[in-house]
Amino acid sequence: MTKRAANYSTIFTTLFTGFFLVLSPLFFQAQNTLELIAPLDIPLILSGNFGEFRGSHFHTGIDIKTQGVEGFPVLAAADGKVERIKVSPWGYGNTLYIKHSDGSSTVYAHLQSFSPSIQDWVRVRQYKGRVFSIDLSPTVDFEFYAGDTIGWSGNSGSSGGPHLHFEVRDAQQHPVNPLHWDLPITDKIPPEVGDLKVIPIDSNGLEKREIAVDAKAGDTTLVKACEVHLGVWSIDRLDGASNVCGVYSIDVEVNGEQYFSCTIDTLDFAVNQDMNAHVYFSTWKGGRKSVHRFNKLPGDRLPIYDFLSEKNLEIMVDSIMKVDVVCKDVNGNSRAKSYILKGDDSLPEYICKGSESSRIVTKLATPYAVTDLRLEGVDVHIKRGALYDSEYVFLEVFDSLEFEIGSWDVPLKKAIEVSYKLSAVMPQDLWVARSVNDKGDVSGAIVCKQEVGRLDFKTKNMGRYKMERDTVPPRLLPKHSGTPVVKNGDLIFHIDDAVSGVEKIEATMDGQWILLRWNPKKKEAIYKASDAVHEKGSKVKIEVVASDAVGLESKWSGYVKMK
Ligand SMILES: [Zn+2]
Repeated sequence: MTKRAANYSTIFTTLFTGFFLVLSPLFFQAQNTLELIAPLDIPLILSGNFGEFRGSHFHTGIDIKTQGVEGFPVLAAADGKVERIKVSPWGYGNTLYIKHSDGSSTVYAHLQSFSPSIQDWVRVRQYKGRVFSIDLSPTVDFEFYAGDTIGWSGNSGSSGGPHLHFEVRDAQQHPVNPLHWDLPITDKIPPEVGDLKVIPIDSNGLEKREIAVDAKAGDTTLVKACEVHLGVWSIDRLDGASNVCGVYSIDVEVNGEQYFSCTIDTLDFAVNQDMNAHVYFSTWKGGRKSVHRFNKLPGDRLPIYDFLSEKNLEIMVDSIMKVDVVCKDVNGNSRAKSYILKGDDSLPEYICKGSESSRIVTKLATPYAVTDLRLEGVDVHIKRGALYDSEYVFLEVFDSLEFEIGSWDVPLKKAIEVSYKLSAVMPQDLWVARSVNDKGDVSGAIVCKQEVGRLDFKTKNMGRYKMERDTVPPRLLPKHSGTPVVKNGDLIFHIDDAVSGVEKIEATMDGQWILLRWNPKKKEAIYKASDAVHEKGSKVKIEVVASDAVGLESKWSGYVKMK
């Protein structure tokens, strides 16, 4: 019974012994009884914690630093059977999922490799299915005891440096905070709490983010006298590392009355993207600033809210609003800050964007209805439920290939559909939609679906887009010199694609399919000599075909003396 929640129940039963003697066995049954040991036999220093904001979701595990290197033995945190094995060049990379007797499971991601028996079993299936990416539920028992080596730590998938991502999931597959277990992780550093974000609301109930104000703790800040939404910047750090992590709980009082309370304890993959609604999206998307809102947007389904006030907050002219915020980490370290807001009616009104321009169309969109924007051959279809809150959305056309769907700081729950009219004089193939930033730089590429006279694409990001053609096939060549063979006998190819990205890589040896392991970060595809498809010292014909996302192909072939 190492889980902290269970310890609370012990204290509880001790305090109320007489009454709870009968009830306690039932109470204990409801607790998760899984015991966990550390999944690595090195000091556990975290670069990431449970519930911190990542791209478009909450982080659902802890990231354990591995001293900048790969290859530490990864240990089963409890007895169990491997229930899932996944290999992917993206996301979690090489991942093992172990199921435990109480129905819960633990997840070990970004591994360098699996234990030999699993590694062999997976490779047979990769060769059989002629695939690198694979997601398997083993039909044979890979059973481990707590402390057994299940694989080696790595940096596979979308990992920014060597570490182990460790996750605990309950029997319903909901990720839970691993720091509730007594793992040897110390944290004496309280969260940092910064400015209070004050977002004015107009008479239609819409946020006027353009005139949002940051109020400093301790100061009296003049704000527009009107209804407001509030949020606070807060992060946490753990002992031994400077990495920015997330806070565990936030409690807010307004004028001495409870207003808001949330705890990031159990998450739900089905709604994890709603982090975009909980975070103040403008400063998150614009600068990765972690501002937690104290209001739940209508479309937000997160299971983290303990208390939400029914009251709208209104700041009156010349009157004072006092906001007290307490942020805690899971170890109970806490930091409190107070803010004083004073209503002012002399602050300027926000002026709605560009109604003077004929190349812009603006509409009031809500989460409850479809919204269509149409201008100069560009059609934007915003589905019902695509927005988290009501917003003014606009479509602005700059030239025949560039347009903006805005505003960029509006988070989307469902992808919006864009249809672009392609004139008959334009080439009709290889089109992608690319994001354009403030400076005019383009990035990313969404492959367009080609219809007669038009291009369709879907996106979950509002913002500026430019239509472009990807006419350049991938670059494909041996990594180091004229031959792909390297010292240890592996074959290594360099593959990259400038616009739409490498989509598919296939290789054969004397006509027989071989497995190339694709590492997009290093732009390397590797045949491992240990696969032993070849005979040692033989001369074989290698053929490699790489395709990008619009289907353009590059080929490399050559005779290679194998080691
Ligand atoms: Zn992680």
